Amino acid sequence: MKKSKSLVKPKKNLGQHFLKSSDVAKKIVDCLNTKNISSILEIGPGMGILTEHIINLSKKSYFIEIDKESATYLKEKFKQIEDNIVEKDFLKIDLKNFKSPIGVIGNFPYNISSQIIFKVIDNRNLVDKVVGMFQLEVAKRICENPGTKSYGIISVLVQAFYETKFEFMLEPEYFNPPPKVDSGVISLKRRKEKSLNCNENLFFKIVKLSFQQRRKTLRNSLKIFNLSNNIKEDVIFDKRPETLSVKDFVHLTNIIANENISA
Ligand code: SAH
Repeated sequence: MKKSKSLVKPKKNLGQHFLKSSDVAKKIVDCLNTKNISSILEIGPGMGILTEHIINLSKKSYFIEIDKESATYLKEKFKQIEDNIVEKDFLKIDLKNFKSPIGVIGNFPYNISSQIIFKVIDNRNLVDKVVGMFQLEVAKRICENPGTKSYGIISVLVQAFYETKFEFMLEPEYFNPPPKVDSGVISLKRRKEKSLNCNENLFFKIVKLSFQQRRKTLRNSLKIFNLSNNIKEDVIFDKRPETLSVKDFVHLTNIIANENISA
């Protein structure tokens, strides 16, 4: 008789909320358009409810799981992908080790979901697509338009490099154990335009500095650049960061870069 498999006990500190419905799992995996993708990385496969559908895509796939108990469970459940189950912390792995363009997918552990996104942004020339489950608030913030309360650093930085799409939301009862918050699935697709037409490091710095004091005008927040009065008369400096689109931030970056060159 086949030995029955033990189930993984959910661990709070690892953000383990297991999705219960295989139909929903399929719906998530279907959001990943694998055209032009060379490898798929699933973050946090857990007990493999998404994994099952990812395997059916017949693409080179890797399953990154920090939890030993889950990894052991998965290796037994999916013998055919045993060698592709990587027992590591996603935040610590080098994405250069995987064939790009990479598609990243997962029902992300909510405690590190922003860090996952910032890692994707750092590796934007390797990661072409992302499909991820986030806590609803974060999912919405990533896709948010300028001029709204939740528009912030993560919205600008993601949208600078990726087209975003809010796919659907899920209530807590779809998970075991249910999280305290609603969840949302979003997808990201790398923009065709690969560079921003400005100094990207300076762009990052300006976006972060601007939002550190989101109630202040840019004239105030960007004092550190010692801008000349002439430049500071530009109406863009009267604005607050949440009203600026990615294009506006690129424009602002170029104004500041030019000033620093000519100074
Ligand atoms: N995909 C599964 C599990 C989601 S819960 C499902 O949908 O049911 C989040 C998963 O991420 C857990 O399995 C957890 O162990 C894993 N995880 C948490 N932190 C991680 C990290 N830093 N790197 C890789 N996996 C992580």
